[in-house]
Amino acid sequence: MIATLLAFTLHAQPAAPPAPKFDAGKAWDHLRQLVAIGPRPSGSAAIEQTRKYIKNQMDAFGLAVTEQAWDEQTPIDKIHLVNLSVVIPGARKERIVFAGHYDTKLFRDFRFVGASDGASSAAFLIELARVLKTRKSPYTIELLFLDGEEARLPEWNGTDNTYGSRHYVEAAKHDGSIGSLKAMILVDMIGDRDLDIRRDANSTPWLTDIIWATAKHQDLDDYFLADSTRIEDDHLPFLSAGVPSVDIIDLDYDAWHTAKDNLDAVSARSLQVVGDVVLGSLPAIEAHLIKQSQLALVRKTTLKRRGGSRKEYTIRLIAHRRHKKLSAVSHQLSN
Ligand SMILES: [Zn+2]
Repeated sequence: MIATLLAFTLHAQPAAPPAPKFDAGKAWDHLRQLVAIGPRPSGSAAIEQTRKYIKNQMDAFGLAVTEQAWDEQTPIDKIHLVNLSVVIPGARKERIVFAGHYDTKLFRDFRFVGASDGASSAAFLIELARVLKTRKSPYTIELLFLDGEEARLPEWNGTDNTYGSRHYVEAAKHDGSIGSLKAMILVDMIGDRDLDIRRDANSTPWLTDIIWATAKHQDLDDYFLADSTRIEDDHLPFLSAGVPSVDIIDLDYDAWHTAKDNLDAVSARSLQVVGDVVLGSLPAIEAHLIKQSQLALVRKTTLKRRGGSRKEYTIRLIAHRRHKKLSAVSHQLSN
């Protein structure tokens, strides 16, 4: 009788629905619609339209959008900037941030629609929101659409760039939320039809290692190359604030900052590759963070109680894990 009941209970438990997969068809549709808006530089009516598009998509997913708006004096003008943040609660309050910029660089002498440089990252984050909104995540997920990544002047100099990320990090330091950001994954220019993503020497090594190992495991190392370069982008303010961060960017792009950065230069396949690698990496990133937090906890108690050595703390960690395993077993038995 007990066995029958047990079997019944086990069978009656519905299996967790599989997490939806990244759908490059959907991401491509967003990219196309963003490009159709036309040039979308910070402070323009077109970028306001872009925000409206992003907010409409989030509305459709039932996700709330928080606006972080401010005015900024740039070398050429004073502009109104807005970061958009979407939070998907997880088991812990600490966050993993996925970020990308949605502005396009200002060019007055030609029509720049930024299919890879601006549209690909925004389209990617919209599709990521759809995939992650129903996922049972151990960490809270934040999708961060950054304004003002591009320099207002033709050249990238000084503080005339990364306006959105610098503002976000300053505000997070001010309100104390910076400590809750455990990892930041930045995507930028990921639409290139001929996708070549190199490791970035400025990025946090453990995060980079996880992502590149995932790409290799998925047979996608033709796109995630082993050689490295050094990139200045929206991840730098986060790194300076001590947040582990990685930039996934293909700057090896002939159409970069030219009129040719249009739909012909990008592909849905490239968005799929990055979607598969980023989502495939997430469990390992979460596992790494959980392990780090456990180590920090054990280290804290050990130091408090004994002023202990590294060896002692390792022993305590093993004991801690055994205890957890045992209590998990006894919990199962008692059920
Ligand atoms: Zn750019």
